[in-house]
Amino acid sequence: MTVPPEFSSRAADLAAPRTFRWLADGIGYGGDYNPEQWPEDVWAEDLRLMAEAGVSVVSVGIFAWSLIEVDQDSFEFGWLDRVLDGLAGAGIGAALATPTAGPPPWLLRRHPEILTVDANGRRNGPGARLGWCPSSVIFRERAGKIVEALAHRYGDHPALRLWHVSNEIGNENGRCYCDACAAAFGHWLEQRYGNIDALNQAWGTAFWGHHYLQFADVPPPRAISGNHNPALVLDYHRFSSDVLLDHFRFERGLLRRLTPDVPITTNFMVKPTLAPVDYAAWADEVDLVANDHYTTADDPHRHWSLALSADQARGVSRGRPWLLMEHSTSAVNWQPRNRAKAPGELIRDSLTHVARGADGAMFFQWRQSTAGAEQYHSAMLPHAGTDTKVWREVVRLGDHLRSLGELRGSTVEPAGIAMIMDYASQWALKSWGKPTVELDPLDLPSVLHRACTRRHRVVDVLRPDASLDGYRLIILPMLHLAYDGLAERLTAAVESGAEVLITYFSGVADQTGRVITGGYPGAYRDLLGIRGEEFFPLLEGETHVLDNGWTAGSWTELLQPTTATGVAHYTDGPLSGTAAYTRRELGAGAANYLAARPTDDDLQALVDDLLARADVPVVARADDGLQLVRRRQGEQGYLFGINHDDAPRTLTATGTDLLTGQAHTGTVNVPAGGVVVIRESA
Ligand SMILES: [Zn+2]
Repeated sequence: MTVPPEFSSRAADLAAPRTFRWLADGIGYGGDYNPEQWPEDVWAEDLRLMAEAGVSVVSVGIFAWSLIEVDQDSFEFGWLDRVLDGLAGAGIGAALATPTAGPPPWLLRRHPEILTVDANGRRNGPGARLGWCPSSVIFRERAGKIVEALAHRYGDHPALRLWHVSNEIGNENGRCYCDACAAAFGHWLEQRYGNIDALNQAWGTAFWGHHYLQFADVPPPRAISGNHNPALVLDYHRFSSDVLLDHFRFERGLLRRLTPDVPITTNFMVKPTLAPVDYAAWADEVDLVANDHYTTADDPHRHWSLALSADQARGVSRGRPWLLMEHSTSAVNWQPRNRAKAPGELIRDSLTHVARGADGAMFFQWRQSTAGAEQYHSAMLPHAGTDTKVWREVVRLGDHLRSLGELRGSTVEPAGIAMIMDYASQWALKSWGKPTVELDPLDLPSVLHRACTRRHRVVDVLRPDASLDGYRLIILPMLHLAYDGLAERLTAAVESGAEVLITYFSGVADQTGRVITGGYPGAYRDLLGIRGEEFFPLLEGETHVLDNGWTAGSWTELLQPTTATGVAHYTDGPLSGTAAYTRRELGAGAANYLAARPTDDDLQALVDDLLARADVPVVARADDGLQLVRRRQGEQGYLFGINHDDAPRTLTATGTDLLTGQAHTGTVNVPAGGVVVIRESA
């Protein structure tokens, strides 16, 4: 079997998709490599141990600006030359960073105006990372100099596989409220709305007398006594994403011009939490999607959350293979309690990402730091050395990924279930002044994704503009805003046989956050056959029982079915007798509306019912507790079975486990905490 050694890009600055060499042969493996933290006599050991672990690619130079441009326009490349030469000699590729995530102290001393300003108008001090304002002209000028210097020096270096632009852009500098950003916001609004009257109309500025005469009068949502217009807040989120993206484009443009044959990416932080930028929009700007993901040690559902994160990363990548740029071998150092991973968790976590479409698994970082802000963050080579649980698992994972090399370029089998998510809806729903503080835009996506995944199905996380063709179950979990054409495409999907589930507070408002009148949810009430009147969020601890046995907490609402049928009704409380869950059959399918927040177990029952009605096939037959995903390369299937439980499980498959070489016919045992990857027989 031949493995495609290349991948094709879709970055927005390319006239047509381009083909690049993948950053490794097979599945990439490695991590952030920061040799500048260590004396050079350690570097030879690094290369020896990387070979032992099977490392094929490392990210280099992410925070090395002050060690490369040691003072303004004074460059010292020697150490980085030796690092890259060493990697090339060892056959290890480099994802070479532009070091703009760490502006050097000499730059911040000369130009403290580069630093971001918080919502209270206070300029943040130097000392962390990503402290720069994306509207700063000085910062951009200096960033351009270091980017060009690196591209000139290393553009033809044999180790260079990929440009890694900056690092987690938006993580610390996601929102800046300085005067330069205020001016840039005004220009951004002018481009979006054309004239100030259009903005006044869209935002409803007549409320509280906020009518503007010019774009320059519109303030960023700085700290005030009271609350801003939510439309302004939503557009500031969009502006902030765009202005940061503009910086990425600036660096990308320099790199593309100087090194047109080297792919370019930047590492995202796609996961089921509020994001600083619109990663779906950003994904179209990179040659390949790269993502960072860290599990939360005290989250008992962390392996399900990880699965959702990986499905989200595949979603923004529009189904194409992506790269896991960072995760942790064990503990992190920024949560309240940084528990080390259990034995085997490192391998399960890595292979969960690979199962869900990653063609590389990398860690922060190679060698655990002894000093600096992340000295207790785990690494591939821990403080305690190689006679350790972490190192043994790192070596074992390297063996596993080598065994999976033929999966490079394969894609996750279409899932049958679509869940539509969008960043703007999450920002809009989270702004102040909604019916209850308990509205969490990631709550229902997480619970419903888990309910599908634990039933041995895979969920494709889609953007609102994605094709819905072929999906049997389509879920809109608190997708607050309405999207052009989505109601029509959902209606067509239902008519041709799909089950659609729309949950409360979806489609209530347009893209500016303005409520659509005539009954909730304005965007979908015709499809759903309901007309919502009022929201009845519940008080803390309040619950109401439904006549199908479910228990509603946190959210209920008053609605009238028009063409829909009530499936479940309240049996007590102010809404007693009215519908909490409705169903409208239309054509060959049905549109279902969930107007309450039942328990997680109730939501599992709801999902089970819809999976049966929609006849969504399982990935394979298996015991409860296994996560199953199939990747495909043409006709060849690769079945992943991942067991996060502490008891052995079985699945049904015929083929060879690529991790052990063992042949299976029929029942496959997946040991407690273990993983199998079956190359399936025809
Ligand atoms: Zn700023």
